[in-house]
Amino acid sequence: MKFNTLLVRGGDVNDNNTGAVNVPVYNSSTYRYPKLGAEVEYDYERSGNPTRNSVETLCAELENGDRGFAFSSGMAAIHAALSIFKPGDHVIIGDNIYGGTFRLVNDFLKPMGIKFSEVDTRDIDAVSAAITPDTKAIYFETVTNPLLHVSSVKRISEVAKKHDLLVIVDNTFLSPYLQQPLDLGADMVVHSATKYLSGHSDIMAGIVVTKGKELGERVYLTQNAVGAVLAPQEASILRRGIQTLNIRMDRHLENTQKIIEYLQANPKVAKINYPTIDETSSEYEIIKNETKGAGGVLSFELQPGLDAREFVNNLNLFVLAVSLGAAESLVEVPAFMSHFEIPKPERLKMGIKDELIRLSIGLEDISDLTSDLDNAFAKI
Ligand code: PLP
Repeated sequence: MKFNTLLVRGGDVNDNNTGAVNVPVYNSSTYRYPKLGAEVEYDYERSGNPTRNSVETLCAELENGDRGFAFSSGMAAIHAALSIFKPGDHVIIGDNIYGGTFRLVNDFLKPMGIKFSEVDTRDIDAVSAAITPDTKAIYFETVTNPLLHVSSVKRISEVAKKHDLLVIVDNTFLSPYLQQPLDLGADMVVHSATKYLSGHSDIMAGIVVTKGKELGERVYLTQNAVGAVLAPQEASILRRGIQTLNIRMDRHLENTQKIIEYLQANPKVAKINYPTIDETSSEYEIIKNETKGAGGVLSFELQPGLDAREFVNNLNLFVLAVSLGAAESLVEVPAFMSHFEIPKPERLKMGIKDELIRLSIGLEDISDLTSDLDNAFAKI
């Protein structure tokens, strides 16, 4: 099946007796053994559930991987992906990855003896230079938040293969519709399925997709042993979201392009961060060669002296909220919201000024979105 067909028809379940077109929600924590010692596919929900398995298979198919695993949040998925390492192992991580992943690394995994180095993964020489005899993997996000830095899955995978390292990509921002990292050389993909995959701000979910037998077995061990599994009802909601991923992503991209054009014409905007704006940049090249588009998140800086807080307080249609990848457009001010915990000097060094505003562009009519922005710009 082609990708667009897989979205709608992948991960089918054949064992219901009713002819139901939708994958049923199997609300059963335990399963009957026909007789003692019988081989059964399902025995207990933490180990496997048909509704969850259906969305796991679907995600594995969409990412061209061998096995998929669904978790109760993106962080649980990332924890499972990184739990394959043991004390003494060294992992190179992108220096601009999601803050919750940094918290997991710094407050949870480092104290357990796993070593990490933060590297700007856009710089292939810096990635190579960070490899030590203990290095086991490189973990990064293709497109980062909130500055929209872009790293090449292909080039990083080439370096990794030379040193026998695993490549793990957080594909939350692009989704498998815009990029399939496993096809570009990665070994494992993680998602906060809370975002584009589910797409409607109504569930929390996480996905891991693995390539090869050994990685799949290691992630399954964590899923079953730790037990942060996705509940059947949430798995069903996630599957429904995924069925429309293609048409939602197309509209996210279309609206994002129009918002960029709108912001480019606005004298109160000092700078826009989106990887396809500068067609001479290496990041544009990566987006062109390795993806079908840069996604529906962008950030921009107001001219110095203009107050980002006042601006967002005057928006109505854009919802002032963290998260992204939803049907509704969201706005946040990283310096005062998602990145508030980073001390100001460090934040400024990263390029996150007080004037920076991040938008997650939704599916609304573009003229309503630009009117909302017009209104807020007029008031600052
Ligand atoms: N990865 C990325 C890129 C994210 O943006 C997020 C959340 O914002 C996560 C992982 C964590 O996912 P969750 O919030 O579903 O636990």
